[in-house]
Amino acid sequence: MSRALMLHEETPRARVVDLSDDQLPDLPVTVAIERSGLNYKDALAITGRGKIVRELPFVPGIDFAGRVEASDSPDYQPGDEVLLTGWGVGERHWGGLAERMSVKPEWLVKRPANLSAEQAMAFGTAGLTAMLCVMRLEEAGLTPEQGPVVVTGATGGVGSWAVQMLAGQGFEVHAVSGKAEQREWLESLGASEVHLRSDFEDKGRPLEKSRWAGAVDTAGGQVLANLLAQMNYDGKVAAVGLAAGADLPTSVMPFILRGVSLLGVDSVMINAERRQKVWQRLADLPDEMHAQMQLETVGLEGLAERAEAMIDGRVSGRVLLDPTR
Ligand code: NDP
Repeated sequence: MSRALMLHEETPRARVVDLSDDQLPDLPVTVAIERSGLNYKDALAITGRGKIVRELPFVPGIDFAGRVEASDSPDYQPGDEVLLTGWGVGERHWGGLAERMSVKPEWLVKRPANLSAEQAMAFGTAGLTAMLCVMRLEEAGLTPEQGPVVVTGATGGVGSWAVQMLAGQGFEVHAVSGKAEQREWLESLGASEVHLRSDFEDKGRPLEKSRWAGAVDTAGGQVLANLLAQMNYDGKVAAVGLAAGADLPTSVMPFILRGVSLLGVDSVMINAERRQKVWQRLADLPDEMHAQMQLETVGLEGLAERAEAMIDGRVSGRVLLDPTR
């Protein structure tokens, strides 16, 4: 038997249950989970405030790190240290908010040797996605000399890693946050200025004064529309999230008059080769970055409350699950 957070039709929606081994998905590799992340998508699934999960009952959790317990795949042996993000796990396939889960071998990544399970999930989907944003901006030609970069949702998982990573690359980073009380923490992550989110929420003009060479946007909606209008000539925006909304009330002006590039970032379906490359780059980041991250670890019983807090915007940094708690 092992325990898992299970989502049901009836209330309470999220309950910790015992699962026998034959209730786990019939998939080749079974992993004993050491740490999982609580991500925005998980919070939407757990609270039922977003259409993430199609069929109930369901075990959510879009990422985890652990050790292979049993494997019918030649690619993995018992004892291998692995991690998983994306591929629809926690959306279409049972996920990582559990003590144990069975998955397909092609979804797994061998955990880099210099990364503990806790460090791997401190990054988790959030860190992976932040690094994908950095790489997308770099590949589009953005360099620190071109001017400041702005990061929205800066106290969130993706945002706070993006602030640290960009500052570590030598960029002047401006953080946009709804949490005025987190200014000092954002500065300790490397933000040179912290702006209030409310300054970016009102409808603006199609083009505003140029302010940013680059942007990582986790908000979408009016916030992203305003950033687009504020980009420098040839500015580059990595659009990665929808914390403010899935719509984009913009015009073509930033694109046709300033040559602004809007770069989409997806972490779910990126191919295995790029995935391994991103994880190695994460593993090679200085250890001090972990010391700066706000990390909160809960047991299975604590997840439902933290999910509510996350949707209400009351969480900073990363929330991890230690299923043995
Ligand atoms: P978190 O909950 O950790 O962070 C989200 C942050 O967004 C909050 O901390 C808050 O930061 C900010 N925020 C909250 N409410 C609003 C609002 N109404 N308007 C604007 N900003 C708001 O989530 P993650 O970091 O895990 O994810 C961030 C976004 O990125 C989500 O939309 C998520 O779905 C998306 N995402 C996309 C991925 C992809 O593959 N494309 C992968 C991972 C995440 P603050 O208070 O500092 O403003």
